Parts: sequence; C-alpha cells; structure tokens
Amino acid sequence: MDSASTIKILILDDDTFMLKLLSRMLVKLGYTAIAMCDNGSDALKKIDHADTCPDLILLDLNMPNMDGIEFVRYLVDRQYHGKLILVSGEDERMLKTAEKLVHAHKIPMLGYVHKPVDPDKLAEILLGWKADVLNPLSPNRKIYSANDTKSAIANRELVNYYQPKVSVETGDVVGVETLVRWHHPQDGVIMPDRFIHVAEENNLIDDLTRLVLTQAIVQAGEWHRDGQTLRVSINVTMENLASLNFQDMVVNLVNENNLPPQKIVIEITESQVMGSDTRIPLEILTRLRLKRFHLSIDDFGTGHSSLSQLRDIPFNELKIDQGFVHRAWTDDTLRAIYDASLAVGKQLGMDIVAEGVEDRDDWELLRQTGCDMAQGNFISRPLLPADLPRWMAEWHSRVSTELLIGSTAS
Ligand code: C2E
Ligand code: CA
Ligand code: CA
Repeated sequence: MDSASTIKILILDDDTFMLKLLSRMLVKLGYTAIAMCDNGSDALKKIDHADTCPDLILLDLNMPNMDGIEFVRYLVDRQYHGKLILVSGEDERMLKTAEKLVHAHKIPMLGYVHKPVDPDKLAEILLGWKADVLNPLSPNRKIYSANDTKSAIANRELVNYYQPKVSVETGDVVGVETLVRWHHPQDGVIMPDRFIHVAEENNLIDDLTRLVLTQAIVQAGEWHRDGQTLRVSINVTMENLASLNFQDMVVNLVNENNLPPQKIVIEITESQVMGSDTRIPLEILTRLRLKRFHLSIDDFGTGHSSLSQLRDIPFNELKIDQGFVHRAWTDDTLRAIYDASLAVGKQLGMDIVAEGVEDRDDWELLRQTGCDMAQGNFISRPLLPADLPRWMAEWHSRVSTELLIGSTAS
C-alpha cells in the first residue's frame, strides 16, 4: 500500500464538503498525496507545474464557472498525460456522454462515479488502475519521448500491419489498410495511439510517414508481382502534406515498385497540430488525384470540418468512423449518423467503407444498407504480411459457409 502514497491525486469540485469527503475516502484507500481545488483555474495552475501535476484527477462535471467539460479541453491543450475519473450527480446518460467526450480527446478515463459517491465503487476503479501504476516499468503506463520515437524510426522498429478490407456484396478482399506498430525491443508491440501524437508534436511525423509509406509501397509491389492486386491504404495526416515533396516521394515510390497509382489509397486524417494554411495540402491532394492515386477521407464525421473537406477535396472513398458503425443496428443516434454519412458519400459517388465492424450484427447492417466495403475485427484484425495467405483461405471459406454470399473471388 505504501507506493500508493506516491501517487499524486487532485480533486476538483466546487463543493468543499465533497472535497473533504472524497479526500477522506482516498486516504482510507492508502492515498496520501492529495491536493484539492474548488475551481478550474487553480487546478490548471497545479497542472502547469511538474511538481504539482497529478497522476490522477477526480473531476466534478458541474461547476459554476469553468465546468468539467471545459476543464477537459484545457487538459488537452496542456497535453495532460495522467488519468481522469469523472464525478457527477448527473444521470447515467449524461455521464456516458461526458465519458465519450473525454475519450475522444484521448485522455485516459478510469471511469465515472455518481454522487453521492459510493466508496466501494471508487475503490474498485482505483484497484483496477493500481496494478498498472505501481509498476512504473509496465509498458501500459510508459510514456514515450520524442527521442524514443526518433530512434524507433531510425532503427526501423516500426512495423507495418495490414488490415483487410472486403466487399460487402461479394466478400472479395479489395484491399488492406496499413497500420503501424512499434516492435519495441523491451516493451513488446506498442500501438500507434501511444506514439503517433509524439511524432506529430515533435516534427517527426514526416520521417514516420516516409518509413511507413516506403514499407507499404514495397509490400504492395510484392503482392502485385504475386498476382495479389490488393489496394493498399496508408494513413497520412494533413501535416504530412505541408511540404511539397510529399508528392514526389509517393510518385517515385510507386514508379520504382511498378505499381499502378490506383492501387494506392491515401487516407487523410486531420492532424491535431495542423496550421491554418490549407492551400498546400489541397494542391498536393488535387495533384495526386490527377495522377490517379485514390484519396480517402478517414474517420468521417469526427472532425470539425469533415463536410467542408468533402467540398474542397476530390475524395474517392469515405470511411465511416468506427464510432458510428459498431452497434449502429441497435442505437438510434448512431444509426442516424451512419445513414447520413452513407447517403452523403453515395450522393457524391464515393466508395463507402464502414470501419469497426466487430460482429455479425454490424455486418448485417452493412448488407441491408448497401455499404460498399467493410473493415473490422469481425473480418480480420490487422495482420503481418506472412499471416495474410492463411487468413485469406479462412475468409473465403467463411464467406461461402458462414456468411452465405456468393464470392467471385479467385
Ligand atoms: P484509424 O486509421 O481509424 O485505424 C483504425 C483503427 O481501428 C486501428 O487501430 C485498428 O486496429 C482499429 N480497429 C480495426 N478494426 C476494429 C474493430 O473491429 N473494432 C475496434 N474497436 N477497433 C478496430 P490502430 O492500429 O491502433 O490505429 C489507431 C490510429 O492510429 C489509426 O486510426 C490512425 O489514425 C493512426 N495510425 C495508424 N498507423 C498510422 C500511420 O502509419 N500514420 C499515421 N499518421 N497514423 C497512423
Ligand atoms: Ca485510417
Ligand atoms: Ca479511421
């Protein structure tokens, strides 16, 4: 229990009685490094100093001046890397919505507790977290620095995985999306959510993209020589497009590997650090499209300017974000967004890919609604190239036996 005392916890609640109550509960659970604030501005001051920046914040949603949601936004600006527990008297639905908001900002949420706070519930959440936090070497907690990321790129520890994308109508395997992982010599396989933003914030994203792109196009070339004419998608942020040599790099790679440009799909996501000048990215994308590369708008519906991007950029493909796909068959709100995204994409003549297809129900919704392509764990997890042939064989037999669709695939 003694190591719990080194964990810094900040409680933010405008109600001073709640502050005392929560801090007493935490002390009982063995946590002693507790700070309390009754307003957001004071709390932010603590977060701005390394000595007082907490490992965990217990955050009240309802506060008179700066409310909890606004506070979360400031946490994002400060790149807060600690954890969060929401505390509120609001109903379940409201708390869930708030949880999703926090999640969308990529701040790790441990959970939420209702007021009046049940000490057992709080203990349960903290217990789940402690196993992780008490072992500082645990890869789950480790934060990677710019230097770590830089040497990962230099040492080519970044490995491309490929997630299959299939036709909903025929079951044919149409392509794959390149998803990078870090094969860390000590920590094992590290997912991109843990290092892409580090690369973005430290001017390393161009180097990362160059490596991923080179590996992916070389791999696509190999598949093509083997008669496997897969379309290979690569994730590119708007930030990558800020320098004009992006286009030369892609064009050269495709030529060197004897690939038709139609087989390369550039998936565009908005970078968090994108400047306001969008002229160069627009120019690069338009020219890539003129050269017959395919352009895809990724995570459709999640960004602020998704619709204006549709207006400004000649995309071939629209990817409906997984947050609107999985369980859309049973959730009216998700379903409305899914239907609207599908409709706008169809109307613009784009191919529609639904991401995050996790189960048979998700798959059936795609079939009923005429979505073009599906991607998700129901079909396959991201794979190493060596595992692709075995998966293909399995998938073809699933298509004809379990999914009962007549595949035209060879
Ligand atoms: P994304 O482009 O939206 O990629 C889809 C993510 O959803 C992948 O996570 C994939 O593994 C995951 N996924 C696939 N099927 C399912 C499913 O059925 N259910 C659920 N819950 N998730 C599923 P991953 O590989 O962790 O990548 C996360 C994000 O990291 C990607 O989101 C992409 O934005 C970024 N990323 C990955 N590779 C690169 C890269 O090479 N360059 C850049 N700039 N970003 C990358
Ligand atoms: Ca993507
Ligand atoms: Ca996506």
